This record gives sequence, C-alpha cells and structure tokens, in this order.
Amino acid sequence: MRTHALRRSDALRLGRLRVDALRWKGQLEPPSPKAVAALDGEALVGWLDRRVGPALRRERVLPMASALAGYDAEKLSAAAFLRFADRLVSARPQYLVGGLGPLATRLADGLNVRFGCEVESIECEDDGARVRYRAGAREGRAMADAIVVAVTAPGIAELCPKLVPGERGFFENLDFADRTVVHVLLDRAPAIPHRLVAFPPREGFGVAAIEVAHHLRGAAPTGAGLLRVVLGEAAGERMRAASNDEVAGVVLDNLERTSVGRLEPREVWVDRMANAAPLAKPSFHARLARFENRVERSPRMAFAGDVFAGQGAEAAISSGLHAASEIARALPARR
Ligand SMILES: Cc1cc2nc3c(=O)[nH]c(=O)nc-3n(C[C@H](O)[C@H](O)[C@H](O)COP(=O)(O)OP(=O)(O)OC[C@H]3O[C@@H](n4cnc5c(N)ncnc54)[C@H](O)[C@@H]3O)c2cc1C
Repeated sequence: MRTHALRRSDALRLGRLRVDALRWKGQLEPPSPKAVAALDGEALVGWLDRRVGPALRRERVLPMASALAGYDAEKLSAAAFLRFADRLVSARPQYLVGGLGPLATRLADGLNVRFGCEVESIECEDDGARVRYRAGAREGRAMADAIVVAVTAPGIAELCPKLVPGERGFFENLDFADRTVVHVLLDRAPAIPHRLVAFPPREGFGVAAIEVAHHLRGAAPTGAGLLRVVLGEAAGERMRAASNDEVAGVVLDNLERTSVGRLEPREVWVDRMANAAPLAKPSFHARLARFENRVERSPRMAFAGDVFAGQGAEAAISSGLHAASEIARALPARR
C-alpha cells in the first residue's frame, strides 16, 4: 500500500514494527504465556504511540491495519495486531476460485449433513448430547454421542443452557466487530494501481478502505471492475438506520472525492454484517488461555470457530479439527 512518500525518519520508525514482528515471531499463537504476559494486556493505540508516535499511528499504521483486518483495528491489543501482521507479512495469500462456499461443500462431502435446520438448544450430559432444532415449521430432536459447537460465538451462551459457569462467562464477554461493505461492480476496471487502499479517518469521510477485487480470478466478469469498499466503524454505525441506497450514495460521493473519481456503477450492493469478526481486545488472549485450560468442562462438548485460533477460514478449520480430536479422545472407547 502506498500513500505519500514516507520521510526517512518515519520509515525508520515504521521499521521498528518489523523488528517487533520478528522478535515475537512464532510466540504469538495461543497459548503462549510469554507473549500473552508481555503484549496482550496492552492496547494497540498506546503501544503504537510508544513505538512510532501518534501521528504515524493515526495516519499510517492504524488505517493500514484496519484495511487489512476489514474492521477498525483501533480496539485491538498489541498482541492481536502483531499476530495478524506477522501472518500477513509471512504468508502468501491464496484466493479460492468461487470463494469459500465450495470449500465448505467439499469438506462436507462424505459426511451425513442435514441442512436447513436452525438449532434451538444443545444440552450435554455425561451419557450423550441432545439437540433441538427447527426445520421450517417442523421441530426436531437428535441424540448424539458428543457435539462440536461451531456456530458463531455470540449465540453459544444462549444455545447451550447448561454450560459450566467458566464457559458461559467466556462466551458472554466476547467482543465482535460489525462490518459494512459496499460492493461496486463497474463495466470497466478502473485504473487503480493498488490492490488495497487505506484512508485515515477524516471528518465527513466514511470510507476506511478499498479492496480492488477484480484482480481476484473469478471475482468479476472479464474486463469488469469490482471494488469492495469497507466503511469505517463510525460511519457504519451512523448509517445503521439508512437505506442501502443511501449508504451506496454516500460511498460513491466519498470515492468521487478521492483519486478514484466519479464512478458509474453497473450495480452496487451493500452488506451489513453484525458480529462479522472476533475482536481481540486487551486481555483477550489471557482469557482465551484460561478458557482452553479450564478444569471444569461441559461433558461431551467442544467448541470451534475463528475465535479460538485467529481470524480467517483457515483458522476456523484448524480449530474444528482440534475440537473434533479433543472430543474423540474424551469419548469412552466403543467395544
Ligand atoms: C465479508 C467477509 C469476508 C471474508 N473473507 C475471508 C477471506 O477471504 N478469507 C478468509 O480466510 N476468511 C474470510 N472471512 C472470515 C471467515 O469467513 C471466517 O473466519 C470463518 O467463516 C469463520 O468460521 P466459523 O466456523 O467460526 O464461523 P461461520 O463461518 O460464521 O460459521 C458459523 C455457522 O453457524 C451457523 N449457525 C449459527 N447459528 C446457528 C443455529 N442456531 N443453528 C444452525 N446453524 C447456525 C451459521 O449460519 C454459520 O453457517 C470473511 C468474513 C466475512 C464476514
């Protein structure tokens, strides 16, 4: 990402973050008591102010971190920031043709999956698990040897009335970021020489980032342009009650004030997602470590999702594998 040329002194200051990322490399994946103790309790804003100063924090680092995260990074802990910065710097992003949907379908191949059911409650006892669900107007029940709960975490405490207190407390106190993304489809790809553009917050300007999505194979028709425009949290909040047309209008007005200029989109659609991503505020990793190491546990129940292993589909899948292994080990052997 590039905005203006950096002054040499600013470039040197920003280089400190690279040194920090290298220093903590490999020690930030939970559970890692050393990193948790050192960086988890610290708010990112204060930590960045010490490392690079308030101006670079406000104008450069936080906008870029928010653009990469897809939500305002301001509330994260220093540990959470370094964790995802490290993953982004060291990994080469892979894009799945057709998006994440086909991956889920492929993983489900060979399993006996029942779709279209909304689970209403899950109760686990020492001898098995009971699930109540609704499929359209019909209510159903299922018995299972054990359960891996992989629904989005804000709903878990409500779905599972018999959680032990430590588990309930953990799920009830999680924080999530909402996300408003406006997809702009254009007849022709605009000449934006970057993949991702981040904007520092400005009065009267709600766009936080533009992801130039037509570079991703299969994301847009050949020759067409596709921009994913992410609104800042404050703008998303302000426009909570606005219609999709109003949100789209504000975004196009904002873009017109940048070097992107005036756009005549073929189509615009607005996605407003509540609880779109887990938010690792200060002390989150310490709470997560306590949760993972809890002694009192609901029987025959394990939990999976990107809350447990870091943001993103890969993390969510790893945590599902981990939860399934945990529960398989805990089950009494069949004769
Ligand atoms: C707009 C957007 C773009 C993203 N892009 C990427 C990307 O490019 N790459 C990447 O790696 N990650 C991406 N992510 C993140 C990725 O989607 C998540 O990290 C991942 O899906 C989390 O998996 P999960 O299993 O924890 O939760 P989810 O994928 O949210 O799965 C939870 C499931 O539980 C279901 N559910 C909830 N309640 C019930 C109930 N009562 N009964 C039955 N089912 C229920 C939900 O319908 C949902 O299907 C993106 C996320 C968003 C929002």
